[in-house]
Amino acid sequence: MTDFTGENGRKGKGILFVISSTSGGGKTTLIGELLGMLPDLAVSVSHTTRHPRAGETDGIDYDFVSADEFQRMIGEDEFVEWANVYGEFYGTTRKAIGEILAAGCDVLLDIDVQGGRQIKERFPESVLIFIIPPRRDELVRRLRERGTEKPEEIEARLAQADKELALIPFYDYAIANDDLEIAADTLRCVVVAERCSVPRRAE
Ligand code: 5GP
Repeated sequence: MTDFTGENGRKGKGILFVISSTSGGGKTTLIGELLGMLPDLAVSVSHTTRHPRAGETDGIDYDFVSADEFQRMIGEDEFVEWANVYGEFYGTTRKAIGEILAAGCDVLLDIDVQGGRQIKERFPESVLIFIIPPRRDELVRRLRERGTEKPEEIEARLAQADKELALIPFYDYAIANDDLEIAADTLRCVVVAERCSVPRRAE
């Protein structure tokens, strides 16, 4: 279990679950399903320099900050991990994690593979779960049908997806997301199994 002292000095014990995927992997939908199935689990709200999309709320979807503010936070060592994803900065603060653990919940981090590696190095007992997107030809079909990316952008996303898939060996679990219901149930089983783990309980 993660023995974590947050900025406020309170200690909390709980499990850090990292969920990563490639673009189009369906991670956000799966996390929504999981939260509806299990108690005592909360998603950490990240900080980002990217602009809010339509329908996103500051403080709920992300804490939206300027590039200057993000750099200040890096300098003050406020992040447990941070990364540059598609040209914007994203990071998880110790405060965000600490508040969830102090409330007695396990933490879900919806972060990219660079962040996942940092979390595993810092908290070896964390649980890293990779959501494998549908087969490549299905991914190509989806991206083409969506029609929002130019052919070279689709190529860039597929190349990025290949790099991310190459990092699966750093993860503890890999769940294929071909069928949403099956994937969500598998994800629930992983969380329940980790909660029942004897070494964790012994701690
Ligand atoms: P989006 O801009 O679509 O919300 O997120 C882009 C990517 O950044 C996603 O893969 C998401 O999981 C990742 N991400 C979101 N928050 C964080 C964070 O705090 N740290 C890292 N490393 N990645 C993040």
